[in-house]
Amino acid sequence: MPSHDVLIIGAGLAGQRAALAAAQQGASVAIISKVHPVRSHSVAAAGGINAALNPEDSWESHAFDTVKGSDYLGDQDAIEIMTREAPEEILWLEHSGVTFHRNETGHLGTRAFGGASQARTYYVADITGHAILHVLYEQLMKHHELVDRYEEWFTTDLLIDEGRCVGAVGRDLRDGRLEVFNAKGVILATGGAGQAYEPTTNGLIVTGDGISLAYRVGAKLMDMEMIQYHPTTLAGNGLLITEGARGEGAQLFNARGERFMEKYAPNKLELASRDVVSRAEQTEINEGRGFPDGTVALDITKVPRKRTLEALREIVNIGRDFAGVDITREPIHIRPGMHYIMGGVKTDVEGETTIPGLYAAGEVACVSVHGGNRLGANSLLDTLIFGRRAGEHLAKRAAQMPMPSTAASRTRDTERRLEQILRRPGNGRRIGAIKHELGQTMNQFVAVFRDAEGLAKAHEIVHRLKEEAVDAGIDDKGSVFNQDLIAAIELGYMLDVAECIVVAAQERKESRGAQFRLDFPSRNDDQWLKHIDLSRDGGPEPRVSYSEVTITRWQPEERTY
Ligand SMILES: Cc1cc2nc3c(=O)[nH]c(=O)nc-3n(C[C@H](O)[C@H](O)[C@H](O)COP(=O)(O)OP(=O)(O)OC[C@H]3O[C@@H](n4cnc5c(N)ncnc54)[C@H](O)[C@@H]3O)c2cc1C
Repeated sequence: MPSHDVLIIGAGLAGQRAALAAAQQGASVAIISKVHPVRSHSVAAAGGINAALNPEDSWESHAFDTVKGSDYLGDQDAIEIMTREAPEEILWLEHSGVTFHRNETGHLGTRAFGGASQARTYYVADITGHAILHVLYEQLMKHHELVDRYEEWFTTDLLIDEGRCVGAVGRDLRDGRLEVFNAKGVILATGGAGQAYEPTTNGLIVTGDGISLAYRVGAKLMDMEMIQYHPTTLAGNGLLITEGARGEGAQLFNARGERFMEKYAPNKLELASRDVVSRAEQTEINEGRGFPDGTVALDITKVPRKRTLEALREIVNIGRDFAGVDITREPIHIRPGMHYIMGGVKTDVEGETTIPGLYAAGEVACVSVHGGNRLGANSLLDTLIFGRRAGEHLAKRAAQMPMPSTAASRTRDTERRLEQILRRPGNGRRIGAIKHELGQTMNQFVAVFRDAEGLAKAHEIVHRLKEEAVDAGIDDKGSVFNQDLIAAIELGYMLDVAECIVVAAQERKESRGAQFRLDFPSRNDDQWLKHIDLSRDGGPEPRVSYSEVTITRWQPEERTY
């Protein structure tokens, strides 16, 4: 049985950064990923990563922008840590080999991003996540004697012993073998849950596994209602046109040719925060000023062609291949699309969850630096800062702990559960059909605008889908790369996450950040300047409780851009 001081589930930026940090502290580390690490969804991150590295900028300014962007729901102690530590992290990445863009003077160059009062986004063309992920993987390979990699292993369960997390059960996707991973502590770094929506900018592997795994063992989740709709996604397939485009000067127009952001955010225009821009676009579309395909136009021809071809080449390809549009010569039709989950597994600033021995970092976690709305380019930063901190913290703690002796037989419950799925008669609905209905339901009722009636409908549908999922049959009964079986398990994870999102959205009876309630259209600090925590206590529904927002120096103010 593999036994390690630190077990990390997930090998995107948060997981790999945690692994390197834990190994540097001298811990023995294992990292599990259901896909090859460089296929983790971090590879898709395009626009860049924020840090106040320029002498004219300051971490306080970055922190304030983040607090304001979060609509004052972000915890300011965590935001202070993230923004203070950001410059050093960027330099560490640079020294490790990330080829960040340099400007004409040879210094690291920045681009502007939404909601930021300074251009402080560092980038590698529009493949920033790709560039960072590959460099971290090189570092992991360099330290192969300290970090054991379990690539294409799928985590089915967390193991709890006397209230403490002591490892996990994994399935080797290549042959179906189940294994207990024994560990002094576990860090969840499994990313977001975008596939609970359809369409989404997130890849097929982003199914909320870690959020559900933590929830199932009793960990608290926080701010689950806060789902970010990105302002510029392609209609239909949901592919992302990076905010980098607006950062470089692209502008938004409605079907009448009006630059409508002048109305909604006269100062920041297209570079207001994402919740503001998405609501503006959706209002234009709902009030009949959009195009017949339910979109508005993003005009990237405002950016000099040479610059687009140099700094935005990936979206040139996306425009050409997926919309048949040459973005250097004509506007492209876009709409708000599901992109990111601000909520997740509740943690403190060291990554500790409410279950001893269980940590979380990256998009799976809610620390909470993004509160009601994440600023673009703050997520890569979040994954690295809190991934590193979680890795270091758990490694130091593990150095003083004995190794637990988890029984190898603890795979049995999982084995039974998986056999039951394989034995289903197959006369129920198809997994794909249930997932499709889930995604469309979430995208219809739990989107940019919400109300009590729509949320109640979503709640009812998610409950029905949960029941239908129990009978959903699968065709593949084999053990080698059985993606049918994995899809059945992932569907269960997504349904848990969806239920929590809906329940939290019903609970928050105000409008803040990404949660806009048509029936409660104002922010209500008196009653709702608080986090909504959810946990499972054996009942059919998540249990709701509240926790305070940490305010260090920035008192809530009206938010305008
Ligand atoms: C198209 C796109 C562009 C973006 N651009 C930017 C940007 O420019 N700047 C920015 O700051 N943010 C950006 N974001 C957001 C950012 O990329 C993500 O929030 C971040 O990369 C998430 O990293 P992570 O390490 O938490 O998770 P991921 O990179 O998603 O990694 C999750 C890992 O967990 C593993 N895993 C999951 N479930 C299991 C399981 N059951 N068993 C085993 N392993 C499992 C996966 O294999 C993977 O290794 C973008 C997001 C998208 C979708």
